[in-house]
Amino acid sequence: MNLEQKQRILEKIKEYDRIILFRHKRPDGDAVGATKGLQEILRLTYPQKEILVINNDFSKFVAFLGGEDAPCADELYRDALGIVIDTATTERISNPKYSLCKELVKIDHHIDIKPYGDVMWIEEERSSACEMIADFYYTFREELKINSAAATYIYTGMVTDSGRFRFRSVSGETLRLAGMLLDCGVDTDRLYAQLYLDEYHVLKFKAYVYKKMKISKSGVISLYISRAAQKRFGLTTEQASAAISYLDSVKGSLVWLAFIEGYDNTIRVRLRSRFLEINTLAERYHGGGHACASGATVYSKKEARALIAEADILLAEYKKNHEDWL
Ligand code: AMP
Repeated sequence: MNLEQKQRILEKIKEYDRIILFRHKRPDGDAVGATKGLQEILRLTYPQKEILVINNDFSKFVAFLGGEDAPCADELYRDALGIVIDTATTERISNPKYSLCKELVKIDHHIDIKPYGDVMWIEEERSSACEMIADFYYTFREELKINSAAATYIYTGMVTDSGRFRFRSVSGETLRLAGMLLDCGVDTDRLYAQLYLDEYHVLKFKAYVYKKMKISKSGVISLYISRAAQKRFGLTTEQASAAISYLDSVKGSLVWLAFIEGYDNTIRVRLRSRFLEINTLAERYHGGGHACASGATVYSKKEARALIAEADILLAEYKKNHEDWL
């Protein structure tokens, strides 16, 4: 699929001596895995080139994937090729200096609301950006080199962004590519320990989440996590944000929402759903995203309640018109 775009990207990579990789803000396993995985592949294949991953922020929960490169002088961007991965819009790019790059490549699996870049390779049906990087490697496997470190970065992104290969976006192709990566030597015991082990206070927080979650008339689950609660449990914003995944298995609750109070007077909203689409709802609240996984921002509890009310109507409507939901 999209062989022409992939070939153009490979040609661009060959053309440049310096390549800088970028990802989105508040990175997850997919964003970090894809950039670091591609960096490793390109460093192995083209040892004479300078391949850097430079971003402005980091998330503690993906720290096990290791750090990125230190900031560099603006001049170094000017003759570099920039590759932005897993980032739908330029506003979400972690490092604003991407714009200094001579040319820009966009590789993404999000809905392409605002195209950017000189070369774009977008596949919205892919379960992760890492799946695209795995596919890129596989397409040019005669030419590109891989090792177990690269395979582990990429496999981690595939596992985390697909809900452990559980989401509908997972295809036979996803698993074939994952299989190819496993054959390169991924230590899955270690990887899953890194993904699943929780600190004691985080498990205590989980108990709090189940106590505090609310259900609306039609079954929308919602949870408000105040700054005080984050402090009480000693959580980073990222750890508090992970609460969204604790809410995903309530029978009949096809929509679940987590509101995370920030330190800048904004409230981050994480929206998730089964079967029905919630991205248009997210778009009405300064956000967007995938059909069943979106993000938004609200600025008051009142606005949070309005979002829940809209979600409730959406879910009621869906249940009225469908019979096979769970
Ligand atoms: P999150 O709950 O923040 O992980 O977001 C879920 C998905 O929605 C991610 O894949 C993001 O790409 C997307 N998303 C989150 N926040 C926004 C936003 N403000 N605008 C557009 N897309 C977003």
